Amino acid sequence: MENSVKESIVLLSELIQNKCVNPPGNEMKSIQTIHRFLLEHDVESQIFESAPNRGNLVARIPGKEKGPRLMFGPAHVDVVPVENPNDWEVDPFSGTVKDGYVWGRGALDMLYIVVTQVQAFIKLQKENFQPKGDLTLLVVSDEEAGGIYGAEWMLKNHPEQVKTDFLVTEAGGLSIAPGKLAFMIGEKGGAWKRISFKGTPGHGSMPFDSDNAAHKAARAMIMIREYCDSKIPLTTEYLNYLAKGLDLGFIQRLMLTNKRLLPFTLRNLKKRDPQMARVVHSLTRMTLSPNIVQGGTKVNVIPATSYIDVDIRTLPGQDDKYVGIHLKKALGDLSEEAKIESLSVEAGGFTSYGNASLASSEFVTAMEKAVQQEQPDSVLVPFIMPGVSDCRFFRERGVGAYGFSLFDPETPMSHLASLAHGTDERISIKTIEFSQRVYYNLAKIFLG
Ligand SMILES: [Zn+2]
Repeated sequence: MENSVKESIVLLSELIQNKCVNPPGNEMKSIQTIHRFLLEHDVESQIFESAPNRGNLVARIPGKEKGPRLMFGPAHVDVVPVENPNDWEVDPFSGTVKDGYVWGRGALDMLYIVVTQVQAFIKLQKENFQPKGDLTLLVVSDEEAGGIYGAEWMLKNHPEQVKTDFLVTEAGGLSIAPGKLAFMIGEKGGAWKRISFKGTPGHGSMPFDSDNAAHKAARAMIMIREYCDSKIPLTTEYLNYLAKGLDLGFIQRLMLTNKRLLPFTLRNLKKRDPQMARVVHSLTRMTLSPNIVQGGTKVNVIPATSYIDVDIRTLPGQDDKYVGIHLKKALGDLSEEAKIESLSVEAGGFTSYGNASLASSEFVTAMEKAVQQEQPDSVLVPFIMPGVSDCRFFRERGVGAYGFSLFDPETPMSHLASLAHGTDERISIKTIEFSQRVYYNLAKIFLG
């Protein structure tokens, strides 16, 4: 094993042990770890404190020309909490290395990218690489709670430090079929809503014809689910990329890209590959998932108020007006009396717009070449992430932002979906090796 890979494993374990669980984050610990690691390799970097114990790190190899510029990152060092540590095979904050994997919270999302981007950057600087435009390394805090002290904070407070034309960050390079690697060109937006209902309080012993607010909330939940599954407008734009990238046969392609066949396709897919069915479902529509329901205070009182909180995810181009129109339709006869509001930040609310970068360009070709140097004959297939990442802040500013790394071809697709934020999160050492090389290759190809 290359020395730098051995070092990466140790660094990754240390970042896991730093336990930068957000909230509260306290990411300065990991930012300092990386600062120290870079210094050990004679790479200078600058730390920007965004709040007590929180901050971001920038290192740069200045370009000899004006452009194009490339950024590694924003790579976030914060991680999400662990609900049941006892369900894990190992202590989730031990950074244990076993069976060819580094185990622990954050290993996959996204500390392995932090580590491999740092290593690729070090290697380039050691070789005295002279990029065309600036090559910037950006490591950030707070991605898991909205980026307020991380990527967004840097763009607002130190825009000159994070100027770039293109960037690569989480997540991508996972094999979805032999020789076909998914990479992320965009992400869905979030428009979380609270829908409240009023009723008339009364005694639970005489419910005849009662105006029960909890009953309305329950009906609303069912109606929203049905609307999301069978009535909301569909698009196959993002599945077209997939069908094309996968070189599907005529019938399979039709099944995936014909809107009329989609319900049938999903029913079938759900039996064979439930996880894939969920992905396909989410890529074809705005999704609505009513996840919190609240109403009633006492078992013998007919409730006068109730609400449901709905996790709504929009595709690129679907704005708040679109959300409102379809929520009303979903609620049918209840829409008149339903009060719809954006979920407040205090209640965990969050709003962002779906966004995407170009699916093909000179830069995308460079990423593909970078991959082919490691896994010949592989091609990249554009994907939209159902979740939200820091990329959105950069895409808003016209940066071509992509989820890109390179997985061990043996890593199953289900890993990404079930291990990120899940139990037994881990990353294979081969993925660390591949990713390290692919970032290096990309800089050499695109900026060389
Ligand atoms: Zn992440």
